[in-house]
Amino acid sequence: MERADVERWKNKYLESLENLERLESRWENRLDLVRRGLVRSSLAAEGNDAAVDACLVELRDILRRDDSDADLARLIPRLERTVLDSEQRRELRARQVTEAFAELCRLLQTLELPRDQRKALKGFAKRAQAAAGQPSELPALLGEFSRLQQQALSQLHPEQPARPGFLQRLLGGRGEHAEEAPATLPAQMPDTAAPLAQAEPAETSEPPALASPPAAAVEISGDAEPAPADPAYALPPVPEPGYSAIAPHLEATLLRLLDDLALPDSHKPQAEHLRQRIQGSLNWYELVPVLDDLSVLVLALNHSGQSEFQLYLRRLNERLAAFQTGLQHVHDQRQDGQTQERAFGEALRGQVNELQNEVQEATDLDSLKLSLDSRLEGLLTSLAEQQSQRETREQEASERFNALTERVAGMEREAQQYRGHLEEQRQKALCDPLTGLPNRAAWSERLELEVARWQRHGGDLLLAVLDVDLFKRINDGYGHLAGDKVLKIIASELQRRLRKTDFIARFGGEEFVVLLSATPVAGGVTLIEQLRAAVAACPFHFKGERVVITLSAGLAAFAPGEDADTVFERADQALYRAKRAGRDRLDVA
Ligand code: GH3
Ligand code: MG
Ligand code: MG
Repeated sequence: MERADVERWKNKYLESLENLERLESRWENRLDLVRRGLVRSSLAAEGNDAAVDACLVELRDILRRDDSDADLARLIPRLERTVLDSEQRRELRARQVTEAFAELCRLLQTLELPRDQRKALKGFAKRAQAAAGQPSELPALLGEFSRLQQQALSQLHPEQPARPGFLQRLLGGRGEHAEEAPATLPAQMPDTAAPLAQAEPAETSEPPALASPPAAAVEISGDAEPAPADPAYALPPVPEPGYSAIAPHLEATLLRLLDDLALPDSHKPQAEHLRQRIQGSLNWYELVPVLDDLSVLVLALNHSGQSEFQLYLRRLNERLAAFQTGLQHVHDQRQDGQTQERAFGEALRGQVNELQNEVQEATDLDSLKLSLDSRLEGLLTSLAEQQSQRETREQEASERFNALTERVAGMEREAQQYRGHLEEQRQKALCDPLTGLPNRAAWSERLELEVARWQRHGGDLLLAVLDVDLFKRINDGYGHLAGDKVLKIIASELQRRLRKTDFIARFGGEEFVVLLSATPVAGGVTLIEQLRAAVAACPFHFKGERVVITLSAGLAAFAPGEDADTVFERADQALYRAKRAGRDRLDVA
C-alpha cells in the first residue's frame, strides 16, 4: 500500500473513532436525562401507596447506581404488580368511603331535620354514590358533608356556639383555627423553599390524605370512643391535627416555591390557579393534588429550560460553524503572511476546542451563556482583527502589484523604444551612408534570401555587376568630393529605374550589384542597358565642361545547381571582359 493510502485510511479510522465518541457521549447524555426524569417522576408519584412508594425508593436507588440494568429488569415487573394492587386497593377504599358516606347520611337523616336539610342530605347521598371510585371528588364531598353535618347539629342545639366539627376543622378555613396550632411545630419545619421530596407529607405522623377519609369516617360512625352526653360532641376527642400546625408554613413555602419558578408564559395561568388554591383552603386532601400540579409545573419548567438550552446550543453551533468557515477561509488564503495566518488559525481552533469542552461540561445554563458569549465575542473580534490585517496586507500586495505592473509596462515601452532603435541601427548597418543604397551586408542577406526562394520555386534569377569606368580619373581630375557626388547621383539614377522586385546595392568603391528576380536574360540585358544609358545621359559638368560617365557591366543568370558565389564570379568575369573589350558595355556570361 502506498504511503498516501495508509495516511488516508488512518485519517478515516480516526474520523470514525471521533464520530463514535460523539455518539456515545450523546447517548450518555440522553440516558442521564432519562434517569433524572425517572427519578423526578418517581418522586412526584410517591405518597399514594406505601407499597408503591417502597418500589419507587428502590427504583431511585437503582437509577443512581450505574450498573443498574439487571436490578432494573427485576424491579419493573414487581413495580407493575404493586401499581396494579395499589389501584385495586384505591378502588376498594373509594367503595368503603362511599359506603361510609351513605351510612353517615342515613344517620343524619334519622334526626328530625327541616325539610330543606333533609333534601340537601338526600341530594348529597346521591352525589356521593355517583362519585364512587373518583378519589378526586372526595375532598369536596367531605367538605360538603361537613357543612351538612354542622347545619344538622346546630338545628338540634341552636343555643350552642357554632363549633366546627372535626372534618370542618380539618378541611375548613385555616384562618379561623390556625391559632390552635401548637407553637412549637412550625419551628421544626425547614424555613427555606423545600424541594418536592421534602415537602411531601410522609415525614409527619398524620395519615396519608387518600387513606385517611375512610378511617376517619368509620371512627365517627363507630363507637370506639364513648360519646359524650351532648350530641354536639358526639365526635370522639381527637388529638389536634398536625396539618393545621404546619399549614401556614407549608403555604408560605409552596408560594415561595411557585414564585421562584421562572415559568414560560404558556404555564403562567396554571401557576396562578395553583396559587389561588394554595392561598385558599389548603388541607391534607388538597395537598397531594396541589403537589402533583406543582410537580407538573416543575417538570414543564425543566422541559422549557431544556428546549431553551437546546435552542441556545443550536444557535451556538451555528455561530461555531460560521466561525469554522471563517477559519477555513483564513486557512485557504495562500498569500503573504501564510505562516502567520496558520498560527493564528491554530490558536483560534484551540480556543474553539476549549469552548466545545465548556459546552460539554456545562451544567448551569446562565453561567455557560455568559462565558460562551464573552468568549465568542473575543474570538469574533480576533477574527475581525485578523481579517482587517489581511485586508491591509492584501491592499499592500495589490499596491505592490500595481506598481510592478506599472514598472513592467514602463519596461515594455522602453523595450519597444530599444527595439525601434535597434531596427534603426540595423537599417543603418545595412545601409551605405554615402549613396543611401543597401550596403554589402544587406546585399549578402538579400542574395541568400533570393537564392533560397529561387531554389524552391525555380524561374529566372539574374545577377549583374556594374562598375564606373575610369572613376579614378574623376577623383584625380575633380577631387574626391566631386567623385562622391557623382557616386550619389549614379546610385539614385540606378535605383530610380529599377522595378520594385529588383534589388541594388553598393558593393564597394564605384561598384554596384543588381539582383533581378523572375527576369529572363533578355529582359535583364534590356534593363541593364537602360541603366547604363541613363547614367551615360546624366548631364555631369565639371569646371564648365560636360563629362560623360559610363558603366561597364557583367550579367549572369543562375543555372540549376549553382550557388551565389559561382554566379557572382561569372558575372564578375563578364564585367572584366567588358572592361577589356573597351568599357561602356555589357557582357553576358
Ligand atoms: P576602371 O575603368 O578600370 O575601373 O578604372 P577605374 O579608375 O575606375 O578603376 P580603379 O579601380 O583603378 O579605381 C577606382 C577608383 O575609384 C579608386 C578610388 O579613388 C575611387 N573610389 C573608390 N571609392 C571611392 C569613393 O567612395 N569616393 C571617391 N571619390 N572615389 C572612390
Ligand atoms: Mg572598380
Ligand atoms: Mg571602375
